[in-house]
Amino acid sequence: MRIARISLQERTRIAVEDAGEWRVLTQTDLGAITAGEAPEIDTAEEPLTHHAFLAPYPGGTIFGIGLNYRDTIRDMGFPTPETPYLFPKLSSSVVGPGDPIILDADVTTEADWEGELAVIIGKTARNIPEENALEFVFGYTAANDISARDVQRADPQWVRGKGLDTFCPIGPVIVTADEIPDPQNVRIRTWVNGNIVQDGNTADMVFGVRALISYLSRHFTLCPGDVILTGTPSGCGGFMTPPRFLAPGDETTVEIQGIGSLTNPVAAASLPVP
Ligand code: MG
Repeated sequence: MRIARISLQERTRIAVEDAGEWRVLTQTDLGAITAGEAPEIDTAEEPLTHHAFLAPYPGGTIFGIGLNYRDTIRDMGFPTPETPYLFPKLSSSVVGPGDPIILDADVTTEADWEGELAVIIGKTARNIPEENALEFVFGYTAANDISARDVQRADPQWVRGKGLDTFCPIGPVIVTADEIPDPQNVRIRTWVNGNIVQDGNTADMVFGVRALISYLSRHFTLCPGDVILTGTPSGCGGFMTPPRFLAPGDETTVEIQGIGSLTNPVAAASLPVP
């Protein structure tokens, strides 16, 4: 099943794809659906013919995983981590398909793309062994873990470098876990302005989805609606020669096999600087 948050007549609704048609639900809380509430189609609404997808973000904690693809670790010249490298991604950084990634040149001039498979947790998980870990997955979506490389270098941790407003595009839809039985065999590609820059496969992860859920749940209670960004394959701009960073006017697309494409324009900040 495919589930989306949509904008319909200026209201936020939840919709599911049913027999090839997108149908609006009576429920309006994506978090409740990810926690197990059965989707109930609103029969008063016709199947959708035109709608805008919003970020399919259920509202939970967003965990980021760094240095989790063997080819990326090679690009960066770092040793392979012995345990997953965790960082937080702030909920205020989430945007949806088509929303601009906004760059404030006073904050960063080195914004980079990171196409990633995102895991949506569906059940409360604490101390879960790897062999049971996929039972706690509600579904998957695509994410672009936009990263300010200059800010990452400047700080001893990555809250600012990863958490800036608009730096977490996700979507376009959540695909339920039954449709992706093996999350370690999924192709991920990223394009910038139509040129392919990343072409990887989740088979290259150092810590797979099972291992990440098990590890996280040893330290934190995972809750329905939490999101795990599982790392990015080779091809980020900051590790190209010469480096290549995002600029206003660019457009990024992350495509994940079996999920779909997430496209975002890049724009300059227009807010007054205090
Ligand atoms: Mg990342």
